[in-house]
Amino acid sequence: MLYFSTNKKSEKVNFREATIKGQAPDKGLYFPDVIPSLSKNFLDSIKTLTKAEIAFEVIHPYVGDCIEDDELYKICEHTVNFDFPLIPVSDNISALELFHGPTLAFKDVGARFMSRCLGHFSKDNSKKITVLVATSGDTGSAVANGFLGVEGVEVVILYPSGKVSKIQELQLTTLGQNIRALEVQGTFDDCQRMVKQAFTDKDLNNKLFLTSANSINVARWLPQQFYYFYALRQWPHKKPPVISVPSGNFGNICAGLMAAASGLPVKHFVAACNSNDVFTRYLQTAEFKNMEAVATISNAMDVGNPSNFVRILEIFAHQYEKIKGLISSYSIEDAETAATITRVFKQHKYILDPHGAVGYRCLEKYLEEHSSEKGFFLETAHPIKFSDVVEKAIGHPLHIPPAMHHLMELKKLSTVIKPEYDELKDFLMSTMSY
Ligand SMILES: *Cc1c(COP(=O)(O)O)cnc(C)c1O
Repeated sequence: MLYFSTNKKSEKVNFREATIKGQAPDKGLYFPDVIPSLSKNFLDSIKTLTKAEIAFEVIHPYVGDCIEDDELYKICEHTVNFDFPLIPVSDNISALELFHGPTLAFKDVGARFMSRCLGHFSKDNSKKITVLVATSGDTGSAVANGFLGVEGVEVVILYPSGKVSKIQELQLTTLGQNIRALEVQGTFDDCQRMVKQAFTDKDLNNKLFLTSANSINVARWLPQQFYYFYALRQWPHKKPPVISVPSGNFGNICAGLMAAASGLPVKHFVAACNSNDVFTRYLQTAEFKNMEAVATISNAMDVGNPSNFVRILEIFAHQYEKIKGLISSYSIEDAETAATITRVFKQHKYILDPHGAVGYRCLEKYLEEHSSEKGFFLETAHPIKFSDVVEKAIGHPLHIPPAMHHLMELKKLSTVIKPEYDELKDFLMSTMSY
């Protein structure tokens, strides 16, 4: 399988190159030359296969011969070794819970898969790979956890001091081993600027093999297809589901669209958005206009210019009518998100996180107009990660899940630096040379 750049100026590359590079040199996103078709036999027998077997079948054509089959199978087994339950919430709506991984959010799947692939590719490298990430919270913890203990890869995470939640900071700073946390006395934008500068620094790149673990990386994006197949395995109805995906950068829904293009039976997709509604407006007007991101209580979806929009265009060969035929979109404001958490808890005793609540409400809206259908939404994070909002909405404190207990007892380990590029460079030059 070869990958082309959506800007069409860079050369085609295989899975290995696409994973190591992350973004194409022409700043486009990598996209597979062909979307594989899954056999009817595979889809019919999905209920009898294990999670690892399904993951392997789905991802194998994308990886091609870049990783040997038995190694790829092991990577799949490791990536999905937790639960993805489909839980009925109301008569016509279920929740596909994607928060049973180590950092309690769906980004664990992509991060775990990508980290093992990079670890595998680093074996042919004379230098260790150094992954450099700037985070405002969630992505960093999923990436750090995914890479923990992966041989041949060192991770350096930059986060803005005092601007991530307590749980997030502990998730970032207590891992040790090959994970180093830099606490930057500045903003997330400072962190991002410093990381970008590092990638263009010749001197540094001669010495270190630097790469990013950006969410647009194919090795983070494509494995997100897995859980759509796990949902199908648990789907109790004859008619295919309507699937609602809380969306920000649109990587997750775009993976679902790939799964559908490969043969996964899906009735319809709902792109569930908060006030960052560029895609909702695109479906109304056929015009894509990005915006300045607006801050909301579902903050992992606060994206004003979703990178993966170009991948949606590729999937549908730029045909607006086709996109509109398979996807609907709604945009929900914070007050409605909070009211949904309150109401669903009262009516159904189910606790939504703010992102899942947007997914739930948008699915409800779609089903109000299509009452003979049933569907599920992706519950993308554990409510405890957004406990302030959720506790206020349901009126009582949440239980801290067992996976979080031990975190509270660990010691934070970070190196504090000023928001200046030279401080980052000095750190990398002195700590990361082998
Ligand atoms: C990242 C994230 C999203 C948005 O996913 P995209 O792939 O960027 O659309 C939704 N919910 C949570 C909890 C997230 O962390």
